[in-house]
Amino acid sequence: MNHDNKTESHNVRANFDICVIGGGINGVGIARDAAGRGLSTVLLEKGDLGNATSSMSSKMIHGGLRYLEYYEFGLVRSSLKERNVLLRIAPHIIKPMRFILPHEPYLRPAWLIRMGLFFYDFLAVRHKSLKRSTGFKIKKTVHENLLNDSYKTAFSYADCWVEDSRLVVLNAMDAAKKGAHIRSYNECVSAVRKGGRWLVTVQDHITGSEYCITTKMLVNAAGPWVRSVLDDNKLSDDKTLNVRLVKGSHIIVDKLYEGGHAYLLQQPDGRVVFVWPYEGKYSLVGTTEEQYDGDPKEAIISNAEIDYLCASVNRSFKKTISGDSIVWSYSGVRPLLDDGEEKTSAVTRDYKLVVEDEGAPLLSVFGGKITTYRKLAEKAVAKIFDVLDVEIRREDGLIKSLCLEGMSLTVTLMHFWMLNVRNIGGCLRICLCA
Ligand SMILES: Cc1cc2nc3c(=O)[nH]c(=O)nc-3n(C[C@H](O)[C@H](O)[C@H](O)COP(=O)(O)OP(=O)(O)OC[C@H]3O[C@@H](n4cnc5c(N)ncnc54)[C@H](O)[C@@H]3O)c2cc1C
Repeated sequence: MNHDNKTESHNVRANFDICVIGGGINGVGIARDAAGRGLSTVLLEKGDLGNATSSMSSKMIHGGLRYLEYYEFGLVRSSLKERNVLLRIAPHIIKPMRFILPHEPYLRPAWLIRMGLFFYDFLAVRHKSLKRSTGFKIKKTVHENLLNDSYKTAFSYADCWVEDSRLVVLNAMDAAKKGAHIRSYNECVSAVRKGGRWLVTVQDHITGSEYCITTKMLVNAAGPWVRSVLDDNKLSDDKTLNVRLVKGSHIIVDKLYEGGHAYLLQQPDGRVVFVWPYEGKYSLVGTTEEQYDGDPKEAIISNAEIDYLCASVNRSFKKTISGDSIVWSYSGVRPLLDDGEEKTSAVTRDYKLVVEDEGAPLLSVFGGKITTYRKLAEKAVAKIFDVLDVEIRREDGLIKSLCLEGMSLTVTLMHFWMLNVRNIGGCLRICLCA
């Protein structure tokens, strides 16, 4: 990526408008938007890009059907709107997927699920490639030989699958193309306010050297480390928001079924577990929710999580799995905005952007989902422009319609066809970035 010349990494101070801490999806999204609107931007990531939560997710771009149960209509609606935008800007790494929900009458009545799905479709303003939800009888379908005989009916609905880490890298590449300095393996080790600016000390983990930069504004997008960045730099007090760290694990097992669809399995505790096709030969099963207190980098799957995920599959599928079936597993830590909810599954998946404007300004990101990263970035950059008191480069359409790199010519042409040549401007933009 945009590694700077030797002089700069040898302790010469460079001046930026903003310095983003964190190369997860939220950090790179903000860097892309900020650089695209003309701010001089540097992003510091202590490891590889997207090494933390943003590559350990369930890899869905979704509204979050289950959040309807917590009355998070605003979040579901904005996430579904984003699903359409993201499908448009990155169709090469975001694919529509059919989700099958076998009906468990004792957990949720059919009318409630039907109503939920109707509402989900209604909120979505569906993309052309996403089909409407339906209910159907399992007998004589491909699901009959796969699911336990106790299931008689099922529902199907559409959401999307994303290559999460690639989404991070493509955003970082685009940010770099727009002029941002993306510095992976560069950790922010301290940040202090000095003379109306921030003095940021950076440890370069590749060369072993330390250097400083100055910036007008600091953006803390450190995900699960958002609070420790504040605490370590004495930037927090009793009123500072917190994040609830909730571990989620996935297991990968040999392919449980043929086909490109996914299953959403309702669990007796009210949660849901997904099963997706994964990398051709495998199935991915997840996820769990466990309160977590350790270092987010050290999170690994527990025996209780393995038992939970295996039991979820065995309850629904004729084929059974056990701990021995696991080919690989991964665990990530959700940085959830702490809203005081006791139950981890009930904690909001929404986010909050907090600006502290005394002296040099600081913006911290609490919570968020991959699905909402682009909107979060747009709002964060609008706040940054407000605080820095410079006129925002009004190119609202710029980041929304600019597609990410890497689309093949075939995908570009398919896109062209899907737009029905109605939107010539959109088509041209897509052709130009292919
Ligand atoms: C199990 C699980 C399943 C999920 N499933 C979905 C899903 O299906 N769909 C969805 O939309 N969302 C999902 N999410 C949520 C989503 O993954 C996260 O909200 C999102 O990835 C958070 O991104 P982030 O950039 O805030 O954090 P991160 O990706 O964790 O990035 C923060 C970065 O900051 C860096 N950093 C920390 N401190 C410093 C420092 N001092 N200097 C430099 N760098 C630093 C870290 O190395 C890290 O790379 C899921 C989350 C989990 C855990």
